[in-house]
Amino acid sequence: DIVLGARSAVFAPIPTERLRLIVVDEEHDSSYKQETVPRYHGRDVAIRRGQLAGCTVVLGSATPALESWWNATRRGVATLHQLPERAPGLSLPAVRVVDITEERRHQGRSNHLIGPTLAAGITQCLQADGQILLLLNRRGFSSYITCSSRTCGWVLRCDHCDVSMVEHRSGAVRSGSFVRCHHCETAIRLPSQCPDCGKGVARLGLGTQRIEEELQERWPVLAEAAAMHRVDSDSMRSMHDFHAALGDFAAGRTRVLLGTQMIAKGLDVPGVRLVGVINADTAASMPDFRASERTFQLISQVTGRCGRGSAAGRVVVQTLDPTSRPITQAARHDYAGFARSELADREALRLPPAGRLARIVVRDPKHDRGEADATRIATQIAEIAGQDTRVRGPAPCPIARIADSFRFQVEVIAPSASRLQTILGHAKDRLLLEPAARIAVDVDPQSLL
Ligand SMILES: [Zn+2]
Ligand SMILES: [Zn+2]
Repeated sequence: DIVLGARSAVFAPIPTERLRLIVVDEEHDSSYKQETVPRYHGRDVAIRRGQLAGCTVVLGSATPALESWWNATRRGVATLHQLPERAPGLSLPAVRVVDITEERRHQGRSNHLIGPTLAAGITQCLQADGQILLLLNRRGFSSYITCSSRTCGWVLRCDHCDVSMVEHRSGAVRSGSFVRCHHCETAIRLPSQCPDCGKGVARLGLGTQRIEEELQERWPVLAEAAAMHRVDSDSMRSMHDFHAALGDFAAGRTRVLLGTQMIAKGLDVPGVRLVGVINADTAASMPDFRASERTFQLISQVTGRCGRGSAAGRVVVQTLDPTSRPITQAARHDYAGFARSELADREALRLPPAGRLARIVVRDPKHDRGEADATRIATQIAEIAGQDTRVRGPAPCPIARIADSFRFQVEVIAPSASRLQTILGHAKDRLLLEPAARIAVDVDPQSLL
């Protein structure tokens, strides 16, 4: 009588007349959106099925998607039920936001990525037998490789994509470093010299592997006792690895869990006394109108991982911008305040959820043909659309080339979902969006890279 499952369970073949309740838990989670064809959002499908069956749909979240919040508080198409307190036994931890620049002033010449405040917290927590979660939303060792000469300016970029390559280390052997493109998976050995001027290379930026190395150097007990696990898509080859790592942590066999956003979701371990966010700015630097929302959710989620046991938890958030709104609001656990200010911004720009956005991406190995197609699409959609709709572009995508294909985008911002569908329908009738292999249409995209 109950069907339980991940995203695709929303399509479970239950007769409409028997369907009485649909629950979408953690409804804000972007993994409800399927990013490959057929593109759909599990939450939207759930709501549609609920409408067809005339049954109740419950969307649950501590940090609702702004779309859902808007539907409940502004459009009145959903009812807001608030739980004023956390479940019994859970307390909200104290969150301290620290300025990375300020921290660096107090650590002399060392280039540690874990500043004095977080480091003191780690030492204290380990002495008190507590467990620690450390979050860094970037895998690899260093996120870009440049020439060490200040005047040269060479950066190691992927031959096939317009992105810098990320250094990864295999094992402890330093010479075993290789660099990889996160978009086409091309991998090459780390060059020892700049190909332009022959000087040495410098590694900049940070990744989970570099934090792992710093932890092992500064807290040798973690390395000796194998008391630390790194969890990211490099170290976790299968769901089995992932569950084993979480199992070790839940059972107290490991003291520190270091990882990407994979560890921010749903982990419920009472021994966690300290949560550290190594760099809260990785989500905010994305060229994406959802960047603030992502930052807020990331910090809120990871903050919710501590304070689940009897002892109070602490959270230390390292950032280059300690006055940033989503960071300070998340630190105060102020979702309503965040939603108010963020929705005001979105409304001013008519961005979702105040308006509806479709992103059309044209991919083409031939630059000029791709650009011409995107220009034609933008011009004709502007003709179809009329005054109430904005067409932005064509413009190169933030990542202008992936796997040898050039990428151009056109954004269509309409006042409502039905207007947007009408416009896209006309565009399809004119065969503007063909061939589908080269032209992708994404309504309310989760990622704008
Ligand atoms: Zn690449
Ligand atoms: Zn150079």
